[in-house]
Amino acid sequence: MAVIDLTLTDERRALKAGVSEICKKYPGEYWRDLDAKREYPEAFVTELTRAGYLAALIPQEYGGAGLPIADGGLILETIHANGGNAAACHAQMYIMGTVLRHGSEAQKRQYLPKIATGDLRLQAFGVTEPDSGSDTTKLKTMAVRKGDRYVVNGRKIFISRALQSDLMLLLARTTPVAILGRYWRFWASLP
Ligand SMILES: Cc1cc2nc3c(=O)[nH]c(=O)nc-3n(C[C@H](O)[C@H](O)[C@H](O)COP(=O)(O)OP(=O)(O)OC[C@H]3O[C@@H](n4cnc5c(N)ncnc54)[C@H](O)[C@@H]3O)c2cc1C
Repeated sequence: MAVIDLTLTDERRALKAGVSEICKKYPGEYWRDLDAKREYPEAFVTELTRAGYLAALIPQEYGGAGLPIADGGLILETIHANGGNAAACHAQMYIMGTVLRHGSEAQKRQYLPKIATGDLRLQAFGVTEPDSGSDTTKLKTMAVRKGDRYVVNGRKIFISRALQSDLMLLLARTTPVAILGRYWRFWASLP
């Protein structure tokens, strides 16, 4: 089992102090006022982005800090410990992991540096549907390949930060669940 070292090294203390410094400029009144007006913390997210904290997990070669996941957690924890709301921007940190893991080199070069600077916001993930939640294997949104693109049909609900994002990670299926089920029963019946 992997061991995640959570020791507060000098570097981590500096990271925490840097994030706290920004948070102090956005006290309780700032968050309460936004809450009352149902508005997004644009100024806070912009400052956090410009300081590079939301690019913490992006490798350095693509413009990020190349920090490990524990440091990403420390940044989010520090925001909350200072009374802020990291839920407004946490996804900008980790959704890019999909591009990093599954994207082509061209896609990484196209998207990651702009996500790192905040020129592109990738903050939304579309998973939940009216008929499926935790069990993502039941989602019905279909992506059908037509030439060099996919045509997507389906319904999504509860998609946070969609209005504040330029890009969204959308979960869709390319094989209908009924066909997958038949394959599964076939494989399961093999001796
Ligand atoms: C504030 C908010 C923001 C959200 N933002 C997003 C977003 O950005 N993107 C997005 O895609 N979705 C988002 N969601 C949706 C959220 O992730 C879903 O509500 C979640 O996936 C659960 O789905 P569900 O509500 O259909 O509940 P269900 O999946 O139907 O679950 C109902 C209940 O059954 C329990 N349960 C489910 N499966 C099991 C199991 N196998 N074993 C034991 N218990 C189980 C669950 O814990 C829950 O208590 C958001 C929801 C909220 C409230």
